Amino acid sequence: MKKELICIACPIGCHLEIYPDEDYRVEGNQCKRGLYYGKKELTNPTRIITSTVAIEGGIYRRIPVVTKGEVPKDLIFDAMKIINKVRVISPIKRGDVIVKNILDTGVDVVASRSM
Ligand code: SF4
Repeated sequence: MKKELICIACPIGCHLEIYPDEDYRVEGNQCKRGLYYGKKELTNPTRIITSTVAIEGGIYRRIPVVTKGEVPKDLIFDAMKIINKVRVISPIKRGDVIVKNILDTGVDVVASRSM
């Protein structure tokens, strides 16, 4: 049976039609990224997480962080629980690891700016 999704790989937002019974054939994509996104979203959906963590001694009270790769979508809630508990102390450099290997995904959470 056909599934319908909006591609979020770029701002155009193509309306994708995906056919799981036909090896996840995708229609409606304007580029190859839509093929990849359509199949992946139905088989192994993942996301980059962007958030902030509390920092002491910085010019702001929170510092932005990002996962260095995509994590499974069903782990985002648990990952956010961990990220929300983290406190760091300035100075932090962009790219510093804030949470190593979050939830054993093999993905680190890193600072996305220096502070
Ligand atoms: S299919 Fe390509 S052009 Fe369309 S939204 Fe996805 S990335 Fe953008």
